[in-house]
Amino acid sequence: MKNVASLDIFGQCTGCCACRNICPQGAVVIGKNERGFYVPEVTGDCADCGLCLSVCQICSKPPLHSLLGAAAGKSRDLALRMRSSSGGLFSEICSLLSQRHRDSIVFYGVVWADDCHRAVHEKRTAAGVSDFCGSKYVQSYIGDAFSGIAEALLRESYVLFSGTPCQCAGLANFLRAKSISDERLYLIDVVCHGAASPGLWDEYITVLEKEHNEKIRHYSFRDKSVSWRGIHPVVETASGKRLEPDEMIMSYGKLFNNTSLNEKCYDCDYACTRRVGDLTLGDHWGMDNACKELDDGKGVSVCLINTPKGRALAEELFNTADMTAIEDESYLQPNLRQPTSRNLRQKKFWKDLEKHGYEYAAKKFTVHSRLSSALYKHYKNIKKR
Ligand SMILES: Cc1cc2nc3c(=O)[nH]c(=O)nc-3n(C[C@H](O)[C@H](O)[C@H](O)COP(=O)(O)OP(=O)(O)OC[C@H]3O[C@@H](n4cnc5c(N)ncnc54)[C@H](O)[C@@H]3O)c2cc1C
Repeated sequence: MKNVASLDIFGQCTGCCACRNICPQGAVVIGKNERGFYVPEVTGDCADCGLCLSVCQICSKPPLHSLLGAAAGKSRDLALRMRSSSGGLFSEICSLLSQRHRDSIVFYGVVWADDCHRAVHEKRTAAGVSDFCGSKYVQSYIGDAFSGIAEALLRESYVLFSGTPCQCAGLANFLRAKSISDERLYLIDVVCHGAASPGLWDEYITVLEKEHNEKIRHYSFRDKSVSWRGIHPVVETASGKRLEPDEMIMSYGKLFNNTSLNEKCYDCDYACTRRVGDLTLGDHWGMDNACKELDDGKGVSVCLINTPKGRALAEELFNTADMTAIEDESYLQPNLRQPTSRNLRQKKFWKDLEKHGYEYAAKKFTVHSRLSSALYKHYKNIKKR
């Protein structure tokens, strides 16, 4: 059997969908594993050609780039920055590229779909890129996006793709296997804490809908009027009502911390400064003195420059956004050093979720973690005395 079904994918697959996109028979469909993460399933139409294995990251990684430089920056448009997760540099890059390539560029990024039940990679023209604004902290569904990107590149269009490093790696493998040049591709990866389960997210949104008897129209993880640091959700229902961030609303963010991530995220191959994208974007938490003047509490992005193509873009950003070069190692976010450590009670969480559903598991595990952190603080205080 020469297909992805021959691999032991649990704890390895990141759901990048490269296998589905490359399969000439359409024999790879994307299902969900027992924890609700996207995984490939092979149907009887498989011709055993082995193409799915040739693009799979479990089998081979694309070449990674060494860091050429780093900068910190933020958009000059405060309203845009308030909607963005960090400094809004992603949207600034989209603006730059729209001006540079006019109608001959398309953008691929992540939007909410099905009343916020799913995060999905979709295509937009310059007019629609604001839909990508803000990180959706859940594994996104790539679907057939890579095939669309291949078609666009073959039509001689320019393409910007943004996603997690493993998704960018899947795209790089896919294009290489198809012998399609990436000359007109702008690849942007994010510093990634990990991808949480889309099955879990779906259950969470369903619980909120039931509690409030309405569909959810808008969900954003960062209410910067509260704080840029941490997760402060803004949730709006179909009738425009803004929900108070109670324990249930806050529970998802707590689980995202180190409980609800995909197995491979705890052993991520890309949690380092060797990157797959031309540029890497993240939050610039580690402000050094030069960057402190940028910090108004509404978000500053860190931008790693990984390729000459990325460097040319970053140089243009210095004209259109408030930017400063980073000369020290303050860009070194935790997830550029090592993968997120798992919660030791994580297995129990998944069991409880399967047996009792979201409300039960979320209450048990998020309340418990508050209790244990209070106990830990108390213990530390006693030790200090
Ligand atoms: C799952 C995830 C984990 C992250 N973890 C960290 C972290 O630990 N440390 C850190 O510094 N930064 C992290 N980031 C990146 C950070 O949240 C911002 O996306 C980044 O700083 C860019 O912000 P911005 O203000 O420039 O633009 P924004 O408008 O906030 O950026 C949106 C960009 O993120 C992409 N995106 C949104 N949701 C997803 C998704 N589910 N999967 C893939 N791409 C998505 C969009 O396509 C768009 O390119 C993470 C992002 C994601 C999606």
